[in-house]
Amino acid sequence: MESALRTSAHRVFQRVARPAILAASRSDGLRRTAERLPITRDVVHRFVPGESIDDVLKSVAQLRDSGRMVSIDYLGEDTTAVEDADTTVQAYLGLLDTLGTRHETPSTSVRPLEVSLKLSALGQALPRDGEKIARDNAHTICERAQNVGAWVTVDAEDHTTTDSTLSIVRDLRAEFPWLGTVLQAYLKRTLGDCEEFAASGARIRLCKGAYDEPASVAYRDHEDVTDSYLRCLQALMAGSGYPMVASHDPQIIDAVPAMVRDNNRGVDDFEYQMLFGIRDAEQRRLADAGNHVRIYVPFGTQWYGYFVRRIAERPANLTFFLRALAERRH
Ligand SMILES: Cc1cc2nc3c(=O)[nH]c(=O)nc-3n(C[C@H](O)[C@H](O)[C@H](O)COP(=O)(O)OP(=O)(O)OC[C@H]3O[C@@H](n4cnc5c(N)ncnc54)[C@H](O)[C@@H]3O)c2cc1C
Repeated sequence: MESALRTSAHRVFQRVARPAILAASRSDGLRRTAERLPITRDVVHRFVPGESIDDVLKSVAQLRDSGRMVSIDYLGEDTTAVEDADTTVQAYLGLLDTLGTRHETPSTSVRPLEVSLKLSALGQALPRDGEKIARDNAHTICERAQNVGAWVTVDAEDHTTTDSTLSIVRDLRAEFPWLGTVLQAYLKRTLGDCEEFAASGARIRLCKGAYDEPASVAYRDHEDVTDSYLRCLQALMAGSGYPMVASHDPQIIDAVPAMVRDNNRGVDDFEYQMLFGIRDAEQRRLADAGNHVRIYVPFGTQWYGYFVRRIAERPANLTFFLRALAERRH
């Protein structure tokens, strides 16, 4: 009875609250208000370690000391001005130069340092030549990453950008075959994309997907998304690429060892990935067991969209945030 109630409360959250929260992630007015509130910043720090390179480097050092690898994201998305895209490129180049001074050598072919980037922050949505500008900016970042021995992975955004993003990634992989990208299991097209990229030996970060997508293009029920994830992961494991299992879901994590075994893979042939601040004990358990585990660590001042997507993923996060706001008023 209690678990049935919990399941239906979760469904109400998924169908009603989540779309409303995700709509708020695109509101400029709410963003400006939220970014001004100090209390919001305190809650944000659970998911975003800080705003500066120094902040993020402290987290990187701690994660590396505990045997975890990192993927660092300079926060920002939906850029509407060429100058903002240029600023983002400069931030990534500065970050990569700083990471280069760590002189980390890979213990296998797996590079411990990685940056993640959103093509919309590099100008993809600019009205004139957006796709070309984003591609050229990503090329500049990949060149620098190659020089300092870091990997780059391109994030997945809402489904209207998927064709453009994958076309840029295909193009850049001709010169940087180590370039990875994210595929979202909630999209109905993704099994086909997994088969294509797995056949070409690509590094693919498979996640469930964090945007509010229509039923015409995406599975919307939790169980359907998980089933799709497991089918997509099997396609990646069966191919010649490097699967990156980006999920905190115990049902998915538990399914991985058998898939790895059945596809004759070893610990160097895939990695687990989780977000900074989520299931820290599980991250450590997987790393202590000898697996490659990479943590996605975002930093910067433009944390609003990222933070709201984390709130939308879990009812408890919303409760925690609202309670913190209420306590502040008393
Ligand atoms: C490395 C990485 C990169 C990602 N990149 C992208 C991307 O480019 N594009 C994109 O659309 N999505 C991205 N995501 C987000 C992803 O799509 C999901 O929204 C998110 O990972 C939650 O899905 P889940 O697989 O963890 O499963 P869920 O079923 O959502 O969660 C399983 C369990 O994990 C824990 N958990 C999950 N989320 C939270 C949270 N926010 N707070 C606290 N606990 C939580 C809870 O215990 C929950 O029960 C990324 C995720 C990871 C791990």
